[in-house]
Amino acid sequence: MYEKKDKKTSEAKSKLTSLAELGEFGLIDRLTRNVKHYHPDTLKGIGDDAAVIGSGDKVMLLSTDLLVEGIHFDLTYMPFKHLGYKAAVVNISDIAAMNGIPKQMTVSLAVSSRFSAEALDELYAGVVMACDKYKVDLVGGDTSSNVKGMMISVTIIGEANKEEVTYRSGAKSGDLLCVTGDLGSAYIGLLILEREKSVFQVDPNMQPELTGFDYQIGRQLRPEARTDIRNLLLGIGVKPTAMIDISDGLASEILHICKQSGVGCKLFEAKIPIDEDTRELAKEYKIIPSVAALSGGEDYELLFTVKQEDYEKLKDISGISIIGHITSASEGKFMITPDGKSIPILAQGWDGMKEGR
Ligand code: ADP
Ligand code: MG
Repeated sequence: MYEKKDKKTSEAKSKLTSLAELGEFGLIDRLTRNVKHYHPDTLKGIGDDAAVIGSGDKVMLLSTDLLVEGIHFDLTYMPFKHLGYKAAVVNISDIAAMNGIPKQMTVSLAVSSRFSAEALDELYAGVVMACDKYKVDLVGGDTSSNVKGMMISVTIIGEANKEEVTYRSGAKSGDLLCVTGDLGSAYIGLLILEREKSVFQVDPNMQPELTGFDYQIGRQLRPEARTDIRNLLLGIGVKPTAMIDISDGLASEILHICKQSGVGCKLFEAKIPIDEDTRELAKEYKIIPSVAALSGGEDYELLFTVKQEDYEKLKDISGISIIGHITSASEGKFMITPDGKSIPILAQGWDGMKEGR
C-alpha cells in the first residue's frame, strides 16, 4: 500500500518542471501566458524595461526590481549605502531605457533581526542620495521582517511623451547599433571583490572600505543610470528606434532587441567599448575582454538603435559607440571578430536560475 503511494508521488515528482530547465525568461513566459489586459490605456505590458500606461498626452512608465541578498548582492563587500544607491539606480535605469524621465519610487524592505537600525539608516542614505541625484521622489513602500537575510524591492514611475517612448521592438534592418559608455568593468569589479572576499570580515554592521581598482569596483558597487542620454539625443535631433539598458550583458540585451523587433544583427567585436585597465585586468583573470562586456552585465549603460541616416549626427559624439548594425532576421545574429570570423551571439547573461543558485 505504502509502496504504491510512494511510487505515485515520485512519478508525479519526476514530471515537475525544474526552474533551471526553464530559465528566468522561460519562467516569466510560462507564468504570464494567461495574462489579459482589460484597460486600453495599458499600452505595453510585460516584455520591455518598463510597462507603458497612457495618461492624457503623456505616458506613465512603470518598472519594478527585486534585489535578494546572496543572489544580487553580497553584504560582505557591499556597503549598505551603495546597496541603497544601486537598488534605486537599477530602477531609474529602466526608465532611462524607455527614454523617459524618472519621477517617483517606492521602496519595500524585508529584513531579518540580524540587521541594526544604523545599518538600515545607511541603506536609506544611499536610496535618498540616488533620489537627490536623479530628482526622484520617494513616495512609499513596505517594511517586513524576514526569516533570513535582506530583500529590497523598488518600484519606479516615470513619464514621457507618447512619441518619445522607445521600445525594445522598434529596431529595423539597416539601423545602427549603438552603446553608451564602456562595458565589462562592472563584471571585472565583481571578480575583484569576489577574490578579496575572504579578507573581509563577515559582520553585517561592519563593512569594508573600498581600496584600489576604483573604477571597476565603483562600476559594480555604485552604478549610475544614463538618464543624460535622453537629453543628449534630443539635443542632436536623434530618436532611438529601440533601446534597452544593459543589466545582463551586451549579448543578452542585443538578443532581446532582435527578438522583440524580429530582426538580426551584426556586431563588430573590435567596436565594443572597453576601458583600457579593464581590458588588462580581464586578461589577468584569463577572460577575453569582449566576453566580460558580452556576458558580464550590470554596467547599466544603454544599448540603442538609430536610423542609418543619423550616422553623421552620432559619429563624433564622445561616449557613444556605434558597434554594428541591424540586419533582417534571416541573416541571423552574429559577432564579427577582428579577423573576420562570424560567431553566433548567444545569451550568457546572469541567469541566476540556470546557474542553479
Ligand atoms: P529588466 O532586466 O529590465 O528588469 P526583466 O528581465 O526582469 O527586465 O523582465 C522582463 C519583463 O518581464 C519585464 O517586462 C518585467 O516586467 C516582466 N516580468 C518579470 N518578472 C515577472 C513576473 N514575475 N510577473 C510578471 N511579469 C514579470
Ligand atoms: Mg532593463
